[in-house]
Amino acid sequence: MSDAAPAGSLVVAGLGPGDPRLTTPEVTDALADATDLIGYGPYIARVPDRPGLAKHGSDNREEIDRARHALTLASAGRRVVVASSGDPGVFAMAAAVLEAVEHGDPAWRELDLRVLPGVTAMTAAAARAGAPLGHDFCAINLSDNLKPWALVEKRLRLAAEADFVIALYNPVSKARPHQLGRALDILRSLRAPTTPVIFATAVSAPQETIDTVPLAEAVASRADMRTLVIVGSSQTRLITRTGGPAFVYTPRSAPAEAAS
Ligand code: SAH
Repeated sequence: MSDAAPAGSLVVAGLGPGDPRLTTPEVTDALADATDLIGYGPYIARVPDRPGLAKHGSDNREEIDRARHALTLASAGRRVVVASSGDPGVFAMAAAVLEAVEHGDPAWRELDLRVLPGVTAMTAAAARAGAPLGHDFCAINLSDNLKPWALVEKRLRLAAEADFVIALYNPVSKARPHQLGRALDILRSLRAPTTPVIFATAVSAPQETIDTVPLAEAVASRADMRTLVIVGSSQTRLITRTGGPAFVYTPRSAPAEAAS
């Protein structure tokens, strides 16, 4: 049909933690093919400008509006990329886009829609420190923008009781300065004071810092909005060395005592 609208598409892509070398070739190809790029301003600023690419930056709190905008443009025949940092399925836009599809125009279900993975902050931070995620772990988003704080506290307590290594995303924001301190207090009440805690900030970007401290000395002021915190399990340990910071790792197997 010559008068048919051009076939649009929507790709939800993860840019990785910061270093362009950690953006996958698959995502780079999708960005090269896009007519429109949508995302939180600082993320889409990481994608170089080029003729033929329209950038639509937005505030970080407007996820569902951003998703609807992307779906509307794709329905009109544009090749749209929605970009998240890290992986788009980890506390990011992929679920927001699917939420908009579920509740939106039924035609959106038939769109050419793909989610492309990226290197998430948790695995990028873990790799810098050694292998702290070598055994069972969980990830908790400390933000209570989208859930009650009481649920965050419950998950922290139960994850600590289950002896998971715990990765904390969104540990602080200007609107929530006290929550990481409260979270660390809960973990201190349930884990040994020597438990290694990794503060990994701006991993793979020029401002990167990685600090490992015992839980007893972990203070919330070490973290900012670009920090991923990893709290070890009862088995997580350090390999000290003279030529550099200790390796932090969690062995692949857990002993019977870990179940008690
Ligand atoms: N989709 C992203 C996470 C978005 S939530 C991902 O998969 O990584 C935003 C949080 O991710 C930040 O508050 C921080 O906790 C973490 N984060 C993102 N990039 C980071 C980086 N380069 N270094 C450390 N933490 C990072």
